[in-house]
Amino acid sequence: MGYSVLSFDIGGTAIRAATSVDGAEPGEVSRTATPAHDREAFLACLADMAARLPQRPDAISISLAGVVDPQTGRMIVANIPAIHGTDLAADLKARTGMPVIITNDADCFAVAEAVFGAGRQHDIVFGIILGTGVGGGLVSGRRLINAKGGFAGEWGHGPIAPARANGLSLPPFACGCGLSGCLDTVASARGLERLHAHFSGQTRDSRQILDGWRKGEAAAAQTVGAYLDLIAGPLAVCVNLTGATIVPAGGGLSAAHDLLDAIDRAVRPLTLRNFDRPLVVPAMSGPEPGLAGASAIAWQQHQSS
Ligand SMILES: [Zn+2]
Repeated sequence: MGYSVLSFDIGGTAIRAATSVDGAEPGEVSRTATPAHDREAFLACLADMAARLPQRPDAISISLAGVVDPQTGRMIVANIPAIHGTDLAADLKARTGMPVIITNDADCFAVAEAVFGAGRQHDIVFGIILGTGVGGGLVSGRRLINAKGGFAGEWGHGPIAPARANGLSLPPFACGCGLSGCLDTVASARGLERLHAHFSGQTRDSRQILDGWRKGEAAAAQTVGAYLDLIAGPLAVCVNLTGATIVPAGGGLSAAHDLLDAIDRAVRPLTLRNFDRPLVVPAMSGPEPGLAGASAIAWQQHQSS
């Protein structure tokens, strides 16, 4: 029997779980609804899933859309009130007797890409999420820079969005993090929609905007042009700063590979290093990067302990 890890990918509505042995990719995925508002039910739900396994796992590893505050050890999780502000790792360890590792979902994505995906041949991998929000994770030598918690790789926040894009002016939009002018407000799927509404006055979802762009519609082309202009500079700075040689992209917008190609072509002329091959590429670590990354992180910690 090898070293067994039970991984959870915990979202606001669903929890997905899978086990893996000795660092292999996780197996069959089971799903259940997230008890998002009841702390007791939340802990019981995870502990029950662990107890039902035929073999007791050696560790639990969790991917979720939040961070462990490095100063307090407490969770910052906007979409799951049941655990926001709690020390989930300690609470779950007390319940199950198993060591518990908690990692931000963008960080799990980056590790999954470095270990199983598009970053396998690369030393420094900057994984980006272009979805509901803009996230990122930084991996060096297959190890997460944020292994002990923290915010490294979070390129979506900070007042950096320029006041002009593609020749058009735009205001610093207010961000959910409390700042204004964050990349998250313009480069996420919601950001693309916000840009389109601002420039054209039309309410379209991101899929419709990208369809319009493909058909050469003027308003959509203007919006996507501004989008590329807004994302390219900050991403090039991230590549310069980190030394990343590959930028795998995940999240809802990344399903549009033609958009990723356009981002790649906008970013590469702006980096100091000359890349004569694609830099921003589709993710290749499979449909469950949260579970794959969480299990890889637990296996790495076990090997180095
Ligand atoms: Zn922000």
